[in-house]
Amino acid sequence: MIVVMSVSAVEQDIQQVVSAIEARGLSALRMPGGDRIAIGIPSAIPPDLREPLFQALSVLPGVQHVAHVSRPYKLASREFHGADTIVDVKGVRFGGRQIQMITGPCSVESYDQMRAAAMAARAAGATVLRGGAFKPRTSPYAFQGLQEEGLKILQRVGRENGLVTISEVMQPDLVALVAGHVDILQIGARNMQNFPLLIEAGKSGHPVMLKRGPSATLDEFLLAAEYLLHHNNSKVLLCERGVHPLDRSYTRNTLDLNAVPVLKEISHLPVIADPSHGTGISRYVPAMALAAVAAGADGIMVEMHPNPREALSDGAQSLTPGQLQSLMSRLRAVAAAVGRSA
Ligand code: PEP
Ligand code: MN
Repeated sequence: MIVVMSVSAVEQDIQQVVSAIEARGLSALRMPGGDRIAIGIPSAIPPDLREPLFQALSVLPGVQHVAHVSRPYKLASREFHGADTIVDVKGVRFGGRQIQMITGPCSVESYDQMRAAAMAARAAGATVLRGGAFKPRTSPYAFQGLQEEGLKILQRVGRENGLVTISEVMQPDLVALVAGHVDILQIGARNMQNFPLLIEAGKSGHPVMLKRGPSATLDEFLLAAEYLLHHNNSKVLLCERGVHPLDRSYTRNTLDLNAVPVLKEISHLPVIADPSHGTGISRYVPAMALAAVAAGADGIMVEMHPNPREALSDGAQSLTPGQLQSLMSRLRAVAAAVGRSA
Protein backbone atom coordinates (compact mmCIF):
# COMPACT_ATOMS: atom_id res chain seq x y z
CA MET A 1 0.00 0.00 0.00
CA ILE A 2 1.17 3.50 -0.73
CA VAL A 3 -0.09 6.80 0.66
CA VAL A 4 0.53 9.83 -1.53
CA MET A 5 0.45 13.09 0.41
CA SER A 6 -0.80 16.33 -1.13
CA VAL A 7 1.66 19.11 -2.01
CA SER A 8 0.41 21.15 0.94
CA ALA A 9 0.84 18.36 3.55
CA VAL A 10 2.87 19.40 6.57
CA GLU A 11 5.17 17.30 8.78
CA GLN A 12 2.40 16.79 11.33
CA ASP A 13 0.17 15.22 8.63
CA ILE A 14 3.00 12.92 7.56
CA GLN A 15 3.67 11.93 11.15
CA GLN A 16 0.00 11.11 11.66
CA VAL A 17 0.03 8.74 8.67
CA VAL A 18 3.24 7.07 9.90
CA SER A 19 1.76 6.62 13.37
CA ALA A 20 -1.47 5.14 11.98
CA ILE A 21 0.57 2.57 10.05
CA GLU A 22 2.91 1.76 12.94
CA ALA A 23 0.03 1.45 15.38
CA ARG A 24 -1.07 -1.58 13.35
CA GLY A 25 2.34 -3.24 13.71
CA LEU A 26 3.48 -2.37 10.17
CA SER A 27 6.51 -0.40 9.05
CA ALA A 28 6.20 2.89 7.20
CA LEU A 29 8.72 4.03 4.64
CA ARG A 30 9.03 7.72 3.76
CA MET A 31 9.63 8.21 0.06
CA PRO A 32 10.35 11.82 -0.89
CA GLY A 33 9.31 12.63 -4.47
CA GLY A 34 9.67 15.81 -6.53
CA ASP A 35 7.15 18.12 -4.85
CA ARG A 36 5.41 15.73 -2.49
CA ILE A 37 6.12 12.83 -0.21
CA ALA A 38 4.65 9.34 -0.34
CA ILE A 39 4.61 6.83 2.49
CA GLY A 40 4.90 3.19 1.60
CA ILE A 41 4.11 0.03 3.53
CA PRO A 42 6.63 -2.44 2.11
CA SER A 43 5.64 -5.49 4.15
CA ALA A 44 2.68 -7.77 3.49
CA ILE A 45 -0.52 -6.45 5.06
CA PRO A 46 -2.75 -9.08 6.73
CA PRO A 47 -5.90 -9.47 4.58
CA ASP A 48 -8.30 -8.47 7.39
CA LEU A 49 -6.39 -5.21 7.88
CA ARG A 50 -6.27 -4.12 4.24
CA GLU A 51 -9.65 -2.47 3.87
CA PRO A 52 -9.87 -0.85 7.35
CA LEU A 53 -6.34 0.53 6.94
CA PHE A 54 -7.15 1.83 3.47
CA GLN A 55 -10.24 3.62 4.82
CA ALA A 56 -8.46 4.99 7.90
CA LEU A 57 -5.54 6.42 5.93
CA SER A 58 -7.73 7.88 3.15
CA VAL A 59 -9.44 10.32 5.55
CA LEU A 60 -6.34 11.63 7.33
CA PRO A 61 -5.43 15.30 6.77
CA GLY A 62 -2.95 15.95 3.97
CA VAL A 63 -3.58 12.59 2.27
CA GLN A 64 -4.21 12.91 -1.45
CA HIS A 65 -4.81 9.27 -2.22
CA VAL A 66 -4.10 5.74 -1.06
CA ALA A 67 -3.35 2.91 -3.48
CA HIS A 68 -2.77 -0.81 -3.18
CA VAL A 69 0.56 -1.94 -4.65
CA SER A 70 -0.31 -4.79 -6.92
CA ARG A 71 3.18 -6.28 -7.32
CA PRO A 72 4.53 -8.92 -4.92
CA TYR A 73 7.81 -7.01 -4.73
CA LYS A 74 7.48 -3.52 -3.30
CA LEU A 75 10.81 -1.74 -2.93
CA ALA A 76 11.93 -2.90 -6.38
CA SER A 77 8.73 -1.72 -8.02
CA ARG A 78 8.05 1.49 -9.91
CA GLU A 79 4.79 1.84 -8.00
CA PHE A 80 6.92 2.50 -4.92
CA HIS A 81 9.69 4.45 -6.59
CA GLY A 82 8.71 6.23 -9.78
CA ALA A 83 12.05 7.71 -10.85
CA ASP A 84 14.91 5.69 -12.34
CA THR A 85 17.43 4.72 -9.67
CA ILE A 86 20.98 5.70 -10.48
CA VAL A 87 23.59 3.45 -8.92
CA ASP A 88 26.83 5.37 -8.62
CA VAL A 89 29.92 3.23 -8.13
CA LYS A 90 32.97 5.47 -7.73
CA GLY A 91 31.63 7.86 -10.33
CA VAL A 92 30.46 5.16 -12.77
CA ARG A 93 26.74 5.82 -12.99
CA PHE A 94 24.37 3.00 -13.91
CA GLY A 95 20.83 3.99 -14.92
CA GLY A 96 21.59 7.43 -16.34
CA ARG A 97 22.08 8.50 -19.93
CA GLN A 98 25.39 6.70 -20.32
CA ILE A 99 25.44 3.00 -21.07
CA GLN A 100 28.22 1.34 -19.08
CA MET A 101 30.35 -1.45 -20.54
CA ILE A 102 31.49 -4.16 -18.13
CA THR A 103 34.12 -6.41 -19.66
CA GLY A 104 36.98 -8.76 -18.90
CA PRO A 105 37.56 -12.49 -18.83
CA CYS A 106 35.24 -15.06 -17.33
CA SER A 107 37.97 -16.00 -14.82
CA VAL A 108 40.97 -14.25 -13.38
CA GLU A 109 43.87 -16.47 -14.48
CA SER A 110 47.02 -14.42 -13.86
CA TYR A 111 48.25 -10.89 -13.35
CA ASP A 112 49.50 -10.66 -16.95
CA GLN A 113 46.19 -11.90 -18.37
CA MET A 114 44.22 -9.36 -16.28
CA ARG A 115 46.59 -6.54 -17.12
CA ALA A 116 46.20 -7.19 -20.85
CA ALA A 117 42.41 -7.43 -20.43
CA ALA A 118 42.26 -4.18 -18.45
CA MET A 119 44.28 -2.30 -21.02
CA ALA A 120 42.02 -3.58 -23.80
CA ALA A 121 38.92 -2.70 -21.76
CA ARG A 122 40.14 0.81 -21.15
CA ALA A 123 41.21 1.34 -24.75
CA ALA A 124 37.71 0.34 -25.88
CA GLY A 125 36.06 2.78 -23.45
CA ALA A 126 34.73 0.26 -20.93
CA THR A 127 34.32 1.48 -17.35
CA VAL A 128 34.12 -1.76 -15.36
CA LEU A 129 36.55 -4.71 -15.29
CA ARG A 130 35.20 -8.16 -14.53
CA GLY A 131 36.92 -11.40 -13.60
CA GLY A 132 35.68 -14.38 -11.62
CA ALA A 133 37.81 -15.52 -8.68
CA PHE A 134 35.28 -17.91 -7.13
CA LYS A 135 33.78 -19.80 -10.05
CA PRO A 136 30.49 -21.71 -10.09
CA ARG A 137 31.47 -24.61 -12.36
CA THR A 138 29.12 -27.37 -13.39
CA SER A 139 31.91 -29.94 -13.04
CA PRO A 140 34.02 -30.27 -9.90
CA TYR A 141 36.97 -31.09 -12.20
CA ALA A 142 36.77 -27.76 -14.04
CA PHE A 143 38.91 -24.75 -13.05
CA GLN A 144 37.45 -23.40 -9.82
CA GLY A 145 39.12 -19.97 -9.87
CA LEU A 146 42.14 -18.45 -8.13
CA GLN A 147 39.92 -17.45 -5.20
CA GLU A 148 41.51 -14.91 -2.83
CA GLU A 149 44.60 -14.62 -5.01
CA GLY A 150 42.31 -13.82 -7.96
CA LEU A 151 40.57 -11.06 -5.99
CA LYS A 152 43.94 -9.50 -5.20
CA ILE A 153 44.96 -9.52 -8.86
CA LEU A 154 41.64 -7.98 -9.93
CA GLN A 155 41.89 -5.29 -7.26
CA ARG A 156 45.45 -4.39 -8.22
CA VAL A 157 44.79 -4.31 -11.95
CA GLY A 158 41.59 -2.29 -11.46
CA ARG A 159 43.51 0.32 -9.47
CA GLU A 160 46.40 0.45 -11.92
CA ASN A 161 44.02 1.07 -14.80
CA GLY A 162 41.42 3.27 -13.13
CA LEU A 163 38.60 0.76 -13.65
CA VAL A 164 35.75 -0.15 -11.32
CA THR A 165 35.80 -3.90 -10.57
CA ILE A 166 33.21 -6.68 -10.25
CA SER A 167 33.54 -10.30 -9.16
CA GLU A 168 31.22 -13.08 -8.11
CA VAL A 169 30.54 -14.10 -4.54
CA MET A 170 28.98 -17.53 -4.00
CA GLN A 171 28.57 -17.89 -0.26
CA PRO A 172 27.46 -15.64 2.60
CA ASP A 173 30.62 -16.03 4.67
CA LEU A 174 32.74 -14.74 1.77
CA VAL A 175 30.75 -11.51 1.21
CA ALA A 176 33.10 -9.48 3.41
CA LEU A 177 36.21 -10.86 1.71
CA VAL A 178 34.95 -10.19 -1.82
CA ALA A 179 33.56 -6.75 -0.86
CA GLY A 180 36.95 -5.91 0.62
CA HIS A 181 38.59 -6.35 -2.79
CA VAL A 182 36.09 -5.35 -5.48
CA ASP A 183 33.66 -2.49 -6.08
CA ILE A 184 30.63 -4.54 -7.13
CA LEU A 185 29.55 -7.96 -5.88
CA GLN A 186 28.14 -10.25 -8.55
CA ILE A 187 25.51 -12.76 -7.48
CA GLY A 188 25.45 -15.39 -10.18
CA ALA A 189 22.53 -16.96 -11.94
CA ARG A 190 22.87 -20.19 -9.97
CA ASN A 191 22.66 -18.27 -6.70
CA MET A 192 19.82 -15.90 -7.55
CA GLN A 193 17.68 -17.55 -4.90
CA ASN A 194 20.44 -18.27 -2.37
CA PHE A 195 18.58 -16.34 0.31
CA PRO A 196 21.30 -16.36 3.01
CA LEU A 197 23.69 -14.94 0.38
CA LEU A 198 21.18 -12.26 -0.66
CA ILE A 199 20.67 -11.26 2.98
CA GLU A 200 24.40 -11.00 3.64
CA ALA A 201 25.03 -9.08 0.42
CA GLY A 202 22.12 -6.80 1.29
CA LYS A 203 23.47 -6.09 4.76
CA SER A 204 26.93 -5.32 3.35
CA GLY A 205 25.57 -2.20 1.61
CA HIS A 206 28.09 -2.90 -1.16
CA PRO A 207 26.84 -2.46 -4.77
CA VAL A 208 25.45 -5.74 -6.11
CA MET A 209 24.75 -6.98 -9.62
CA LEU A 210 22.15 -9.73 -9.38
CA LYS A 211 21.95 -12.14 -12.31
CA ARG A 212 18.67 -13.72 -13.29
CA GLY A 213 18.45 -17.48 -12.80
CA PRO A 214 18.08 -19.39 -16.08
CA SER A 215 14.60 -20.59 -15.11
CA ALA A 216 13.47 -17.65 -13.00
CA THR A 217 10.36 -15.65 -13.81
CA LEU A 218 10.66 -11.88 -13.64
CA ASP A 219 8.63 -11.84 -10.41
CA GLU A 220 11.08 -14.32 -8.84
CA PHE A 221 13.97 -12.22 -10.10
CA LEU A 222 12.56 -9.02 -8.62
CA LEU A 223 11.69 -10.76 -5.35
CA ALA A 224 15.34 -11.82 -5.11
CA ALA A 225 16.31 -8.16 -5.68
CA GLU A 226 13.74 -7.28 -3.01
CA TYR A 227 15.81 -9.25 -0.47
CA LEU A 228 18.77 -6.95 -1.15
CA LEU A 229 16.63 -3.81 -0.93
CA HIS A 230 14.80 -5.06 2.15
CA HIS A 231 18.16 -5.51 3.91
CA ASN A 232 18.91 -1.85 3.26
CA ASN A 233 20.99 -2.08 0.13
CA SER A 234 19.73 0.29 -2.54
CA LYS A 235 22.69 -0.20 -4.89
CA VAL A 236 21.24 -3.01 -6.94
CA LEU A 237 21.75 -3.76 -10.64
CA LEU A 238 19.60 -6.35 -12.42
CA CYS A 239 21.33 -8.52 -15.02
CA GLU A 240 19.52 -10.50 -17.71
CA ARG A 241 21.90 -13.29 -18.78
CA GLY A 242 19.73 -15.65 -20.73
CA VAL A 243 17.21 -18.29 -19.86
CA HIS A 244 17.12 -22.00 -20.68
CA PRO A 245 16.88 -22.30 -24.46
CA LEU A 246 14.28 -24.21 -26.38
CA ASP A 247 17.06 -25.49 -28.60
CA ARG A 248 20.61 -25.97 -27.28
CA SER A 249 21.96 -26.98 -30.68
CA TYR A 250 22.77 -23.41 -31.60
CA THR A 251 23.05 -21.32 -28.44
CA ARG A 252 23.86 -21.95 -24.79
CA ASN A 253 20.96 -19.88 -23.44
CA THR A 254 18.37 -17.52 -24.87
CA LEU A 255 19.02 -13.89 -23.99
CA ASP A 256 15.55 -12.77 -22.97
CA LEU A 257 15.48 -9.37 -24.61
CA ASN A 258 11.83 -8.97 -23.64
CA ALA A 259 13.03 -8.79 -20.06
CA VAL A 260 14.86 -5.53 -20.73
CA PRO A 261 11.90 -3.23 -21.54
CA VAL A 262 9.64 -5.14 -19.14
CA LEU A 263 12.06 -4.71 -16.22
CA LYS A 264 12.56 -1.06 -17.11
CA GLU A 265 8.80 -0.57 -16.96
CA ILE A 266 8.04 -2.42 -13.73
CA SER A 267 11.19 -1.58 -11.77
CA HIS A 268 13.29 1.54 -11.23
CA LEU A 269 16.55 -0.43 -10.94
CA PRO A 270 19.22 -0.28 -13.68
CA VAL A 271 19.19 -3.20 -16.11
CA ILE A 272 22.33 -4.82 -17.51
CA ALA A 273 22.35 -7.37 -20.34
CA ASP A 274 24.92 -10.14 -20.64
CA PRO A 275 24.92 -11.46 -24.22
CA SER A 276 28.03 -13.60 -23.54
CA HIS A 277 26.23 -16.07 -21.25
CA GLY A 278 23.03 -15.26 -23.13
CA THR A 279 24.35 -16.80 -26.35
CA GLY A 280 27.46 -18.76 -25.35
CA ILE A 281 29.06 -18.11 -28.76
CA SER A 282 31.32 -15.13 -29.40
CA ARG A 283 30.18 -14.45 -32.95
CA TYR A 284 26.59 -13.85 -31.77
CA VAL A 285 27.59 -11.58 -28.90
CA PRO A 286 27.89 -8.27 -30.81
CA ALA A 287 24.43 -8.53 -32.43
CA MET A 288 22.76 -9.26 -29.10
CA ALA A 289 24.74 -6.52 -27.31
CA LEU A 290 23.53 -3.97 -29.88
CA ALA A 291 19.97 -5.30 -29.63
CA ALA A 292 20.06 -4.98 -25.83
CA VAL A 293 21.15 -1.35 -26.09
CA ALA A 294 18.34 -0.67 -28.55
CA ALA A 295 15.93 -2.38 -26.11
CA GLY A 296 16.89 0.03 -23.31
CA ALA A 297 19.63 -1.70 -21.30
CA ASP A 298 21.64 0.58 -19.00
CA GLY A 299 24.77 -1.52 -19.30
CA ILE A 300 26.25 -4.45 -21.16
CA MET A 301 28.48 -7.14 -19.76
CA VAL A 302 30.61 -9.03 -22.28
CA GLU A 303 33.38 -11.49 -21.65
CA MET A 304 36.65 -10.57 -23.33
CA HIS A 305 39.95 -12.44 -23.07
CA PRO A 306 43.37 -11.44 -24.43
CA ASN A 307 43.51 -14.91 -25.98
CA PRO A 308 40.09 -16.62 -25.89
CA ARG A 309 41.46 -19.93 -27.21
CA GLU A 310 43.54 -20.31 -24.07
CA ALA A 311 40.84 -19.21 -21.62
CA LEU A 312 40.34 -21.48 -18.61
CA SER A 313 36.58 -20.86 -18.75
CA ASP A 314 34.05 -19.58 -21.29
CA GLY A 315 36.58 -19.07 -24.10
CA ALA A 316 33.98 -19.89 -26.76
CA GLN A 317 31.88 -16.89 -25.81
CA SER A 318 34.74 -14.46 -25.16
CA LEU A 319 35.54 -11.62 -27.53
CA THR A 320 39.10 -10.72 -28.45
CA PRO A 321 40.29 -7.19 -27.62
CA GLY A 322 39.88 -6.27 -31.30
CA GLN A 323 36.31 -7.59 -31.40
CA LEU A 324 35.47 -5.59 -28.29
CA GLN A 325 36.88 -2.45 -29.84
CA SER A 326 34.78 -2.88 -32.96
CA LEU A 327 31.66 -3.71 -30.92
CA MET A 328 32.12 -0.52 -28.89
CA SER A 329 32.17 1.72 -31.94
CA ARG A 330 28.97 0.15 -33.29
CA LEU A 331 27.43 0.27 -29.82
CA ARG A 332 28.03 4.01 -29.62
CA ALA A 333 26.08 4.49 -32.84
CA VAL A 334 23.12 2.45 -31.55
CA ALA A 335 23.26 4.27 -28.21
CA ALA A 336 23.11 7.62 -29.99
CA ALA A 337 20.13 6.42 -32.04
CA VAL A 338 18.18 5.75 -28.83
CA GLY A 339 19.23 8.98 -27.10
CA ARG A 340 22.01 7.48 -24.97
CA SER A 341 25.78 7.58 -24.96
CA ALA A 342 28.36 4.83 -24.44
C1 PEP B 1 29.85 -15.33 -15.11
O1 PEP B 1 29.48 -14.13 -15.16
O2 PEP B 1 30.99 -15.72 -15.45
C2 PEP B 1 28.86 -16.35 -14.72
C3 PEP B 1 29.23 -17.50 -14.14
O3 PEP B 1 27.62 -15.98 -15.04
P1 PEP B 1 26.18 -16.70 -14.75
O4 PEP B 1 26.02 -16.70 -13.26
O5 PEP B 1 25.22 -15.78 -15.44
O6 PEP B 1 26.22 -18.06 -15.35
MN1 MN C 1 31.59 -16.84 -17.64
